[in-house]
Amino acid sequence: MWIVPEKEIAGLMTPEAAFDAVQAVFAAMASGEASNFPVVREAIGHEDALYGFKGGFDRSALNLGLKAGGYWPNNQKRELINHQSTVFLFDADTGRVQAAVGGNLLTALRTAAASAVSIRHLAPEGAKVLGMIGAGHQSAFQMRAAARVGNFERVLGWNPHPEMLSRLADTAAELGLPFEAVELPRLGAEADVIISITSAFEPLLLDGQVKGRTHIAAMGTDTKGKQELDPKLVARSRLFTDEVAQSVSIGEFQHAFTDKSISTDDVTAIGQVIIGQHQGRGDAEVTIFDGTGVGLQDLAVAGAVLELAKQQKKAVEVDI
Ligand code: NAD
Repeated sequence: MWIVPEKEIAGLMTPEAAFDAVQAVFAAMASGEASNFPVVREAIGHEDALYGFKGGFDRSALNLGLKAGGYWPNNQKRELINHQSTVFLFDADTGRVQAAVGGNLLTALRTAAASAVSIRHLAPEGAKVLGMIGAGHQSAFQMRAAARVGNFERVLGWNPHPEMLSRLADTAAELGLPFEAVELPRLGAEADVIISITSAFEPLLLDGQVKGRTHIAAMGTDTKGKQELDPKLVARSRLFTDEVAQSVSIGEFQHAFTDKSISTDDVTAIGQVIIGQHQGRGDAEVTIFDGTGVGLQDLAVAGAVLELAKQQKKAVEVDI
């Protein structure tokens, strides 16, 4: 089998390649060529960690496997990022393990690619102002990926822990965009595209705060109980997701689904928009993309990086 070490990923995988891989796998999901397997995600009762597996099979790309890992909120004291994961790929013809690929940077790139895909397909025309809710590790990747697909002129940011806002300011500066830290009512009123990427368990962005034509990429909620948006905002918006079953069980739409203000019929897989089976934004005032994070995204970027690593001799071969 091949091992692609975490330290090699940055030199191999670009945001552009991640965008292409994620957009292609969302399309494969919509055309029935790729499916995710049920997610296992458990609080393990140690270090407040959430650990689990996300897997699937893409018959078009022959990507079979899973990502194992999760979220360790106390990792900073060990000078490690809170997300830790590894992607395992299997040979679809024989079942033999094919590769173990460092999954930490890939997770950030594929998550940012997912919201960027949603912005490409759903943002209101002429979107100029990007609003960022969240200033953790993922937020910088999110902002960079959004800036690649949108013509943003400025960035507004808010975070429940204001001391972390410097990450957003630094990333905006790196992208050459003016940045302003604001309160949520202003962010919701002025931003054309909003990305939320926090670990919140209560609504942060309220219905009345979002004004005008807006696209929201809700990226933080990937577990039962987590929540970033007011369910009333969800109920009045046109809804998209990576995978409908995940969005109403572990994603942002779980809450509006549980209180019966939406049903699965109200939620469209973004792949349907990508393959031209759904009009996308249409006349909607607010669109929301619930990026729950599917295993196939991980397999797509890991498959792409494995090929590059083999070509560039950055993969280590071991017998197992
Ligand atoms: P991080 O630990 O680096 O940052 C956490 C962020 O959430 C910060 O903005 C922090 O201020 C905020 N936060 C922490 N506790 C909070 C609370 N109790 N209430 C409200 N906000 C709180 O994390 P990260 O790596 O930036 O990831 C952010 C979130 O995104 C995590 O919850 C993670 O599970 C999720 N995530 C989702 C996907 C996906 O595919 N949907 C992928 C990766 C990460």
